[in-house]
Amino acid sequence: MRCAILADIHANLAALEAVLNDIEKKGGFDETWCLGDIVGYGPDPRPCLEMVQRLKPFCIAGNHDLAAIGRIDTAYFNPDAAIACQWTTAQLAPADIAYLDSLPLTLEREGFTLVHGSPRDPVWEYVFSASIAAGNFDVFRSQLCLVGHTHEPIVFRLEKDGECKAAAFSPGIGLVLGHTRMMINPGGVGQPRDGDPRASYAIYESEGRVMRLYRVPYDVQATQDRMMRAGLPVRLVARLGEGS
Ligand code: ZN
Repeated sequence: MRCAILADIHANLAALEAVLNDIEKKGGFDETWCLGDIVGYGPDPRPCLEMVQRLKPFCIAGNHDLAAIGRIDTAYFNPDAAIACQWTTAQLAPADIAYLDSLPLTLEREGFTLVHGSPRDPVWEYVFSASIAAGNFDVFRSQLCLVGHTHEPIVFRLEKDGECKAAAFSPGIGLVLGHTRMMINPGGVGQPRDGDPRASYAIYESEGRVMRLYRVPYDVQATQDRMMRAGLPVRLVARLGEGS
């Protein structure tokens, strides 16, 4: 089985389409695992929701998904994110709201726990460092955990001596999953923040238990133009070009 792992699409349709085309070129996939934040920041919340639902994914909710439907307060967002969230809420139809409201905060699938933030705080915690990851391994039962939220690809491994170490997760690395417990972030589809503006996603092959990261160029300018026309904050438009 081949799984497409998509995190932080953030209503960026051009990036999502580029990623799905890229996966098809690589031989397609059987399942989609979506790590939340389908909406928020970007100009195409409804088309992205429609496209994601067509994939019939195993999908969890992210903080932006929950904020867009009023389940969490945007007072915890930075001002640009809050403005984008209010704009997003105004775009959504009742069916979109119902879908986002139906998403769980955690899921287990094929030996993976799927969360948006972290196992101990699926909505808010950012797993930025090995020390933060270390405090989460006791909270999930599966060998492996997939996280999003930081929009930065990375792997945290729990070594035999109990120490947690961070390792780069870059294109070209075939991450063999073996028996080591790991927390893995596939980076963000629609708003990468690791200095590389290309869309980021991963494919997991259950045969051989290997995970690979891919980066895909997409028409950043097209998304930026649509954001400007929608009147979304300029800072959010600029960061797509920087991958920041
Ligand atoms: Zn996000």
